Amino acid sequence: MRGIGARGDTRTRVRAASALATAMVMARTTGAFYVMGGVLGLLITAVAPGDEGNRPLVAIAAAVALVLGSTLLVWGPRMPHGIHHAYVAIATVLITVAIHSFPNTTGAISLAAFYVFVACDAALFFRWSQAAAHLAFAMLLCLLVLPTRDLPWWSGLIPAGVTFGVGVVVGILTRMASEADIDVLTGLLNRRGFDRALNSAIELATRSGQGLALVLVDLDRFQKINDHLGHRAGDAVLQRVADTWAKLLTPDQRLARYGGDAFALLLPNTTEQAAILLTEQLRAAVTTGCSAGVTSWQPGESGSLLVSRADVGLYRAKQAGRNRTVLESSRQLPLAVELREAIDTGALDVHYQPIVSLTEGGGKAVGVEALLRWSSSAQPDVTTEGLIRVAEEYDLISDLDELVLRRACADAARLQDTFAQLDLTLNVNVSGLELAESGYADRVAGILASTGWPADQLVLEVTESELAAESQTAIANLHTLRDRGVRIAIDDFGTGYSSLSRLATLPSDILKVDQSFVAAIRSDSPAPPLLGVIAALSKSLDLQVIAEGVETEYQAAVLTELGFALAQGYHYSDSHPVSALISDLNEGQGRVGPGASDRELDDDSRHAANGWLPLG
Ligand code: C2E
Ligand code: MG
Ligand code: MG
Repeated sequence: MRGIGARGDTRTRVRAASALATAMVMARTTGAFYVMGGVLGLLITAVAPGDEGNRPLVAIAAAVALVLGSTLLVWGPRMPHGIHHAYVAIATVLITVAIHSFPNTTGAISLAAFYVFVACDAALFFRWSQAAAHLAFAMLLCLLVLPTRDLPWWSGLIPAGVTFGVGVVVGILTRMASEADIDVLTGLLNRRGFDRALNSAIELATRSGQGLALVLVDLDRFQKINDHLGHRAGDAVLQRVADTWAKLLTPDQRLARYGGDAFALLLPNTTEQAAILLTEQLRAAVTTGCSAGVTSWQPGESGSLLVSRADVGLYRAKQAGRNRTVLESSRQLPLAVELREAIDTGALDVHYQPIVSLTEGGGKAVGVEALLRWSSSAQPDVTTEGLIRVAEEYDLISDLDELVLRRACADAARLQDTFAQLDLTLNVNVSGLELAESGYADRVAGILASTGWPADQLVLEVTESELAAESQTAIANLHTLRDRGVRIAIDDFGTGYSSLSRLATLPSDILKVDQSFVAAIRSDSPAPPLLGVIAALSKSLDLQVIAEGVETEYQAAVLTELGFALAQGYHYSDSHPVSALISDLNEGQGRVGPGASDRELDDDSRHAANGWLPLG
C-alpha cells in the first residue's frame, strides 16, 4: 500500500476499511450485532440457573445493548463516523460486565464468544491501527475477566485468541476484496467502486424516496501538465486535488477517481442546487481549474443514464469555455423523449421571418430566417432556445437541424418560385455542436443538392459564443461551406466574447447585431454608441450587417441613419408558416410591415430620417 494513504482522513478510511465503510453499512452491521447480543443476553439471563454473580446487572447490560443497537439502526446513518468507535468500545465493556456478573460460570464462558462481534466490527470498518486498538482492548479484558470467575489464568486465552484470529482474517479479506474498488494513486474509489456505490445508492434512494445527485468533474488542461511537466507532476496534482476534496466531504458523499483526470462525486439526499453549491466549493478549494457537470436522479433511472447526463453537463461546461459548473437537469428528460419522437415523425414546424432592406425602404423583403416552431405537451412553456438546448444536451441537435434545413430549403424554393424577382436568401440557424461535427459541410451540400436550393442563397447563422468555442473542425467546416458559396452569419453579435481581432479572422460574411442593442434605441435616450461602431467596423471588414429585433419605426430610422442596410423584427413581420408568408408578400408586393402600406412616419422617426437624431 502506498504511503499517501495515511494522509487525507476520509480517503484513508475508504482505503483502510474498504468501500464498505459507509455510515449506512456501519450502522446496520454494528446495530445488528448489538441487537443480537442484547436479545441473546436477555434470553440466557432469563433461563440460566445459578445464583453466582449479579443477574440483574447482566440483564441491565443486555437491555442497554438492545437499546444502543436500536438507536444505531434508526439514527446510525446520520451519526458522525467517530461515534462508531464509542459503540465498539462500549460493546467490549458490556460483554466484560456480563461475563463478570453472570449467574453461572459455564454461561460466563459462553458469553466470551461475543468478543468476536467486536473483532468483526473493528476489522471491517476501521483503519488497521484503530482496529488493532479495539482488538487489544477486547483481548485484554477477556484475559482479565475470565479468571475473576474462579477459572485458571489461561482460561481467557482461547476466546482472546479466537477474537484476534477472526479480527485479522476478516480485516485482511475485507481489504483484499475492496482493493479492487480503490484507485491506487489517490486512494479514492475507482470507477468500479464508484459504479457499485452508485448502484447501492440508487437502490437506497428507490426505497427511501430520497434525492440523489451526481457530479462529474474534469481538471482543465490536465493533459498540458502531463505533457509539459511530466507524469509525476500530473500524479501529484491528482493526489493533491483528491486530498483537498476528500477532506471537504462527509463519509456518505462518495468521491471517486473516475478515470484519467475525471472525478465523480455521489451525493445522497442532495438536491441539484445543493450539489451545485458544493461543487463550486470544491472548485474554489483547488488552484487547478476544473469543469463540472451536475445532475440528479429521477425514480426509475439507471446509474449509467445518470452518469451520461452528468457527462453531458461536463461537456457543456467545457464547450462554454471550461472552469465552470453546468447543471444538466433531469427534469428535461420527458421533453427530450417527446422531441425525439417529433423529429422522427417530422412533427415539427418551421416558420419564416422576413429580413428587409433598410436602404430600399418600405420593408422590401430580401430574405427570410427559418425558425423552429414546436409545442411540447411535456413542457408547454418551453422557448425555442430552451428546445435547442435540450436537443444539444440529448444529442438530438444534428437530426433536428438537418430536418429544419431540409424543410427550409424546400419551402424557400416554393417562395422563390412565387417571387422570382426577389432573389431571396434563406437564413438557417445552426448549432455550434453540429458545426463541430466533421461531416457537417458535406451534409449541407447533400441537402442543397437534393432540394435544389442554390448554395449562394443560403446563409448559415451561428452564434458568436459557439464560434468562440474554438473547435478546429467547426472552423474547417465554415471554410469548406464558404468555398462552396454558402455565407456565414454571426448571430446575436455583441453578446458573446469574441475579440475584435478574432472577428477579422473568423470565416464570416454577415453580422447579425443582437436585439438587445436595437432595443436600447429609444426616442427618449441617445442611440447606443456601440451601434455606430459596429456599423463602421462591419464596413471596414467588408461584412454585411443585419439589425435584429427591430420593433419600431423609430428604431428602423435610426438604424438606417447609422448605415445599417438590413433589418429584421416585429416592426416588419413576426415569423409565419410559408403559406402565410407567401400571402403576406403577395399582398405587399414583396414588402412587409407598415412600409408595405406606405404608412406615415411618426414625429420621432421623421426627425431621425431628417438627420437630427438625438445621438449620444
Ligand atoms: P435567433 O436566431 O437570434 O432568432 C431571432 C429570435 O428573435 C427568434 O426567436 C425570433 O422569433 C425573435 N424575434 C424576431 N423579431 C423580434 C423582435 O422584433 N423582437 C423580439 N423581442 N424578438 C424577435 P425564437 O424563434 O424564439 O428563436 C430563438 C433562438 O433559437 C434563435 O435566435 C436561434 O438562435 C435559435 N433557433 C431557432 N430555430 C433554430 C433552429 O432551427 N436550429 C437552431 N440550431 N437554432 C434555432
Ligand atoms: Mg438566427
Ligand atoms: Mg439572433
